[in-house]
Amino acid sequence: MSDLAAAGPGLAPAGPGPGSADGEVSPDDRRQRLARALAGVPAGAPAPAVWRALGEAGVLRRLYRGGNALGPVVDPARLGDLLRAVDARGDNGATLSVLVQAASALPILGSGRPRTAAAVGPSPAEAAHERVLTGSAQVALAATDGAAAGSDLSGLGTELRFEDGGLVVHGGKRWVTNARTAEFLLVLARRRPGRHFTDFSWVLVPTGAAGVTVRPAATGLLANAATGHIDLDSVRLPADHLVGANGRGMAVFARHMSTERLAGAQWAVALTGRVLADTRERLRGRTVDGEPLWHNPVVRRDFAECLVRVAQLRALCEELAGTAAKGQNLSAGALLKSAVGLTADAVLARCAQLQGADGFAAGGAQTVRAEAAVLGIGGGVTELMLDGVADMSEQLLAEWRT
Ligand SMILES: Cc1cc2nc3c(=O)[nH]c(=O)nc-3n(C[C@H](O)[C@H](O)[C@H](O)COP(=O)(O)OP(=O)(O)OC[C@H]3O[C@@H](n4cnc5c(N)ncnc54)[C@H](O)[C@@H]3O)c2cc1C
Repeated sequence: MSDLAAAGPGLAPAGPGPGSADGEVSPDDRRQRLARALAGVPAGAPAPAVWRALGEAGVLRRLYRGGNALGPVVDPARLGDLLRAVDARGDNGATLSVLVQAASALPILGSGRPRTAAAVGPSPAEAAHERVLTGSAQVALAATDGAAAGSDLSGLGTELRFEDGGLVVHGGKRWVTNARTAEFLLVLARRRPGRHFTDFSWVLVPTGAAGVTVRPAATGLLANAATGHIDLDSVRLPADHLVGANGRGMAVFARHMSTERLAGAQWAVALTGRVLADTRERLRGRTVDGEPLWHNPVVRRDFAECLVRVAQLRALCEELAGTAAKGQNLSAGALLKSAVGLTADAVLARCAQLQGADGFAAGGAQTVRAEAAVLGIGGGVTELMLDGVADMSEQLLAEWRT
C-alpha cells in the first residue's frame, strides 16, 4: 500500500474544470436540482435511465472540482448529496451503478493521456469520458480478475501486449458492476510480469469490440447493477486506447479508490439512516400488550446503539472527506472503508431483526442487508482494509499525538 501512496506525479487531468459557473448558489439549490433530475425517472427504472437523467441535468459534470496530477477530484459534498438522492429511491443496484461510475470509473477515465501535438480531435478516452459525463453512455470498471483473488490485485492475470503498433488485451474479469449495460470497459491489465505497482495499465475496451464476451453474474441481489463477468479473448485495439500513461495503472487506481471508499461510506450513512427511520416508524406502530415496541427499553437501547454507530461513521466521513477525495494518502480510504465494514452490517442486521417477519418481504430489510454486504466486499474486503489500518498504526497514532 505504501508503494502506491508514494507514487509520484503523473498526467495532467483530462477531466472537467471547476463546476462553479453553473448558476448554483447553495447546497439547497443543488439538492433541488438533483431532486428535479431524478423526479422524472420512474421507480425501478433501469440504472442507465438514472444515469442518463443525472447526466442530462448536468449533475455529473458538476461533481468534480478540477483535478490533480492523477485525474479529476470529486467535490465530496456533491458526491454525498448525489448518493443520498439516489439511495432515497430505494434501489440498491441503481445506487451501486451510480457510485462506481461517479466515484472511480469516470475519474479514472478522466485521467486519460495528454494530447500530443500530433493528435487531432479527442482521444478515445476523452470522447468516452464526455459521453459518460453527459449520461448517454455508461462505463464499467473491470479490476477484479478471473485469474486471482480480488484481494490479490497485484496477482491479476489479464495481459496487455503491444503488437503491430496496437494493443492486445487477453484475460477475464469477474463481478463487474454495469458490465451488462456499459458501452465502455476500463480494464486493469498487466503490461509485464511482476507485482510492482508500475507493472499495470488501464485500457479502454469498448464492449462491442471483437473478442469481448459479457456474461451475467448469477445473482438475484442488486439486480439493477447489471453485474457481469467479462471474457477478453485477444481483444485488439488501437494504441490510443491506453488510458493514462503506460505503467501508471495502479497509481491512478489507488488515488481514485480513496474516493470510491469515501462514496461507500457516504452511501452507508444514507442507507443505514433510511433503514433506521423506517424501522423506527414500524416500532412506533407495532404494539405488544398495548404498548408500542418503541417503548421497550431493550429495543430503545439497541436502536440508540445503531444511531451512535452511524453518527460515528458520519463524523468520520466529514473528517476525512477532503483527504479521501484528493487521494493524497491511503489511510483515509482504509479507515473509511473499515468503518463501513464494522458499521453497516451490524446496524442493518439489527434493523432487520427489529422488523420481525416483515423484514423477509420482497425487497425488505433482510434483502437490503444482504445487498449492503457489498459495502464490505466490493472495492476491498473489510479484513484487507483493517490490515491496511494496522499497517498505518504507527503513523496514525503519531498524528493523533500532535
Ligand atoms: C456486487 C458486486 C459488485 C462488484 N463490482 C465490481 C466492479 O465494478 N469492478 C471490479 O473490479 N470488481 C467488482 N467487484 C468485485 C470485488 O471488488 C471483489 O469481490 C473484492 O475485491 C473481493 O474479492 P473476492 O470476491 O475475489 O474475494 P477474495 O479475495 O477471494 O476474499 C474472500 C474472503 O476472504 C477473506 N479475506 C480476503 N483477504 C483477506 C485478508 N487479507 N485478511 C483476512 N481475510 C481476508 C474475506 O473474508 C473475503 O471476503 C464486485 C463485487 C460484488 C459482490
